[in-house]
Amino acid sequence: MRLVWQRLERRSGGPETIIVPLGYPFPMRLEINGWASKITFSATHIIPMHSKCGRLHGHDYAINAIIEGEVGRDGVIMDFISVKEFLRSVAAELDHRVLIPRRDPGVKLKDEYVEYKIGDKKLTIPQCDCIILDIDVASAETLANFVLERMLDRVKFPKNVRRIEIGVDEGRGQGAWTGKDL
Ligand SMILES: [Zn+2]
Repeated sequence: MRLVWQRLERRSGGPETIIVPLGYPFPMRLEINGWASKITFSATHIIPMHSKCGRLHGHDYAINAIIEGEVGRDGVIMDFISVKEFLRSVAAELDHRVLIPRRDPGVKLKDEYVEYKIGDKKLTIPQCDCIILDIDVASAETLANFVLERMLDRVKFPKNVRRIEIGVDEGRGQGAWTGKDL
């Protein structure tokens, strides 16, 4: 991508012109691939009302991100180290946990246990093995929304960033994406 330059006529001192950079003509995007960047976690979940996913089971997950915006005169959209650090902290929080959707009416938090009623089944899981999330169901879709909302709350983005997207993969090659225009 080429820089756009602006020619400025010198007001005094003869016909000489100076050329200054204006920036890049089109928005660009940064992509963070969770698998390649090791922003991954392994977790257990259950999707009620699904025949196969209605059984307690696990996945390897990765969190991906896209940051779209204008490239500044320094040649970058933003330094995305803070985004990677944030995503890694979320992945660490979810890693090797049972994902519990607190908004599911079948979920009851007891002193040291989580009771999770799903149809005719009742799971009793030690709370120390769980992470309680403020979501309705522990799907890749709701996890992507959860990560995006939390990131917008905790990471400061410069004004040239126009849009953020988060993708949560449940295994390689399949995932759910969400995004927000800033
Ligand atoms: Zn699953």
